[in-house]
Amino acid sequence: MSALVRFLAAFCREHPVDEKTLVVPSFVAGRQIGEALTRAAGSWANLRFVTTPALAAEILERGGGAGGAKPMTSSAEIALTDRLFRELLAEGKLGHFSVAGASPGLSRALHRAIRELRLDGRTSSDVRPERFLAEEKGQALALLLARYERALESGDLLDLPGLLLRAIERLARTPFALTWILCPEDMRLCRLEDDLIRAAGGGRLMPVPGDAVFGLDRPRQCRPAQAPDGRSGSDRLSWLFAPGQAPSPEKEARIEIFRALGPTNECREILRRLYTEKVPFDQAEVLTPPGSAHATVFYLLSARTGLPVTFGDGVAISFTSPGRLFFGLLDWLENDFSSDNLCALLENGDITLAGGAPDGPLAARTACRHLRNAMIGWGRGRYLDRLAALREGKLADFDALQGCGGGDGGDDNEARRAAILTAAAEIEGLAAAVGRILASIPGPDAAGTYDLRGLCEAFIGLIGDHARGDSEFDRRARQALLDRLGEFVTEGRFPAMPLKEALDLIRTAGASLRVGAAPPLPGRLHVAGLVSGGLSGRPLTFVAGLDEASFPGRGLQDPILLDEERAAISDSLPTSADILRSNLFGLAAVLASLRGRLVVSYPSYDIVEGRESFPSSVVLQAFRLLRGDADLDYAALEKALADASGFLPGAGRAFDETDWWLERLSAEPRPDGPRTVAANFPGLAAGLAALAARAADKLTAYDGLVDIGPLREAIDPFAGGGAVMSATRLELLAKCPFSYFLRHVLKIEPPEEVEFDRSRWLDPLQRGSLVHEILCDFMTGIAEAGEDVEAARHRALMTRIAGDKIAGMRRQIPPPSEGIFESERRDILETLDIFIAAEEKRENRGRPLAFEKRIDGERIEVAGGRSFRLRGSIDRVDRLGPDTYRVIDYKTGSSKPYEDVVYFGRGRTLQPALYAVALEQILARERPGGIPRVAESGYFFPSRRGEGHEIMIGDFDRDRLKRLLADLLGFIESGAFIAGPGAKCDYCDFRDVCVSGGPDSAKEECEANRKVIEAFRKLDEYK
Ligand code: SF4
Repeated sequence: MSALVRFLAAFCREHPVDEKTLVVPSFVAGRQIGEALTRAAGSWANLRFVTTPALAAEILERGGGAGGAKPMTSSAEIALTDRLFRELLAEGKLGHFSVAGASPGLSRALHRAIRELRLDGRTSSDVRPERFLAEEKGQALALLLARYERALESGDLLDLPGLLLRAIERLARTPFALTWILCPEDMRLCRLEDDLIRAAGGGRLMPVPGDAVFGLDRPRQCRPAQAPDGRSGSDRLSWLFAPGQAPSPEKEARIEIFRALGPTNECREILRRLYTEKVPFDQAEVLTPPGSAHATVFYLLSARTGLPVTFGDGVAISFTSPGRLFFGLLDWLENDFSSDNLCALLENGDITLAGGAPDGPLAARTACRHLRNAMIGWGRGRYLDRLAALREGKLADFDALQGCGGGDGGDDNEARRAAILTAAAEIEGLAAAVGRILASIPGPDAAGTYDLRGLCEAFIGLIGDHARGDSEFDRRARQALLDRLGEFVTEGRFPAMPLKEALDLIRTAGASLRVGAAPPLPGRLHVAGLVSGGLSGRPLTFVAGLDEASFPGRGLQDPILLDEERAAISDSLPTSADILRSNLFGLAAVLASLRGRLVVSYPSYDIVEGRESFPSSVVLQAFRLLRGDADLDYAALEKALADASGFLPGAGRAFDETDWWLERLSAEPRPDGPRTVAANFPGLAAGLAALAARAADKLTAYDGLVDIGPLREAIDPFAGGGAVMSATRLELLAKCPFSYFLRHVLKIEPPEEVEFDRSRWLDPLQRGSLVHEILCDFMTGIAEAGEDVEAARHRALMTRIAGDKIAGMRRQIPPPSEGIFESERRDILETLDIFIAAEEKRENRGRPLAFEKRIDGERIEVAGGRSFRLRGSIDRVDRLGPDTYRVIDYKTGSSKPYEDVVYFGRGRTLQPALYAVALEQILARERPGGIPRVAESGYFFPSRRGEGHEIMIGDFDRDRLKRLLADLLGFIESGAFIAGPGAKCDYCDFRDVCVSGGPDSAKEECEANRKVIEAFRKLDEYK
């Protein structure tokens, strides 16, 4: 029995009918003390448990209320601090802090300093600038505190110190009713709390002794110990910091120590020990230092495996669904309504949107598909426009299918029409749902700033309407968020501020929230903090997370009120040394109060950072006490400890599925994993077979050597005419047949999404097509006027066309910022200038004849008397003479990749030759009587990178082209889609999903398959 419970039991026996009030750090703690007392004393009566704020509120209540004053929560206090800080900043009165500017982090730090000063009973008049190392800081802090005091007074508001102070003042007039005030001696109190307890207790204040702690000084914040420390009734753990004087150990060691690879494995090891030793969950408690990850790990394990756990300090709200929604919405706004953020919320199930059938929510996958297909990217103004465009596109597809009539695919068409109508209805519902959300979020005012209150109201609406409440944690999280946001709305007098600052402030409101705090319950493991725990009276206590970085802490000074300044202002303001001492003493007091077994542990390796971590001094002390030798050092501890517990649980120690699998996989004899997997998962079995086939010497279907028999008509351009080729397709085939196979046989396409890239507006493809369009329109205008390009004369025409096209592109794809848009716009205009200058200087000007000239299934002959159909579009055709022509393709990139091309670039630069042949055939039909000849065909690079260069091929050997095409198309004909030696994987769209292993992996197999390697070598001859 702990000293506290022993004392209470005796006191309740002596004063059974007197009213008794025990001051406790939390109601959860009070409940545990009451239960421990019941176990120890059997029954007790007239004992209540109150926290200091509750005691103050009760005193005011009994004395007729707080006179209409409104109590504040801590987030309301932070919000007030932030508002006053901004006001002073705007007035130019903040001196020292004006450089940093307003930020939620600074507001929190200032609020902490103000609260500490006020809890110590200090007012703005006590904050004298000359007591600060930087006087200017003292002035600014005094000014802010004075404003804060005035705001409380004028608003009739009670922050925590104000509440305590008012209760103390009330007690001076009206003493508290006849009740014993019992206060634990080891409870750490600030000055106002101490004053309140003294005033409330008067002559009936009774200090409650805790278990003795030897070897440590009592911190200043604890009441002085009344009873002389002695050995009677003390547990051996009282000597944790004086192990040399501890009584002899019992027969059975009560202290155990272990270490683990990171907090997750530490928590797993605790659970493994409970399972292995068959300890019921409600016989154990886990204590963790403030800020450690352990409670979160237990929460995630409990959410995943159904582990029954109670959390004395609750869990961070960000781990609940409403918390994720809250922070996700903040990110959404902060990223300019990026559709990726909205999709993440939908995919996690943290928000659902209407649009499903009938009147139900739309499945997340469907909603995300529509949002992505709509190419929204970001920008609140784009959602409805883009969704409307997507819906119109669907309806146009529907009309087109209607126009097809019954035809051969009658049933298919019917099904497709129905699917299109369903999709159109879903998009309409989705647009309405998104529209409602967007409409509820206020926009900026004329100055571009935002009303914080309006934003908070919008968040209240969104959380209220959309947050899930499936579990108790979720319901509490939703309510907690609504309450916090409500406080901001009530505070409501914030100046308009930039969006980022407003969102940061709202984020602050949720950042510190924890929900679901509960006392230990039957059948459940209890996880609590070192400060609030240790009261469950359970026979087994784990103290986890005792690495030197986490406990007792780093002892860093407060950035606003430095230690020296604290000492100059008051003798009771805690310094960083006081806090360290207090943390250590607090843990020692908790451990001294424990009865039963104690297991201490620490994470010995930081898995995220990849570095070792070391035990706290508490672990060494526990080791010394365990061994009864005060001289042992860290080296002895290191030697004595077993290896760190890791991911492998050890035989028979698995507590969940993950552990079970790892145990099985590490046990001897090793299970035949691949065979078991293959037997149970056909898809994975196919994957394993593919891996094995790829690893063998012979080329197989898994390397791309496939039997195209069933598909020949559709994919072989020599068979049936189903496959119409383009220059790009042929060049891709020459670069990497495997990539051709993925794209044009399996028809795999990279997902088309507008990515939110803050550093760029258009990607190279978008930019290239925009420049193409501008140049085409410009040159069409010039040709129609029968003029030659002249910079001075035609720049205005180019600028006008460019302006219209750029504006159109901007409507489709929003730039991330005006600055980036302007920079890329200038870059495009520069490209156009280079084009004009190069055109003006062109020696053999010729006469532009056609732009975007279509090639529609033109038959191209290949060696062996066969042919295939070609389609494409020629950017520009110039007429150089009566029957001679030039083909130009505009390229906005660099000319470097084309510099070595002689005629065909090993089949990877086929376009100039192919277009020349196709154009000659087309012109021969269009202009009968002549024998058209393309004298030049190639590329024009009008960008800064291309410097206005032109790379042209002249007259080339048409028969060699035919042989090249026959060789190249032989890859398709023979089904040899092997990653070729020229594959440039770094630039390939399939890089992330390619399973071929690339050219290096295919090389050896190709060597073993002479025919394939010969085919590749032949291509190399066509330079
Ligand atoms: S990643 Fe390499 S081997 Fe794979 S398809 Fe692309 S270019 Fe070919």
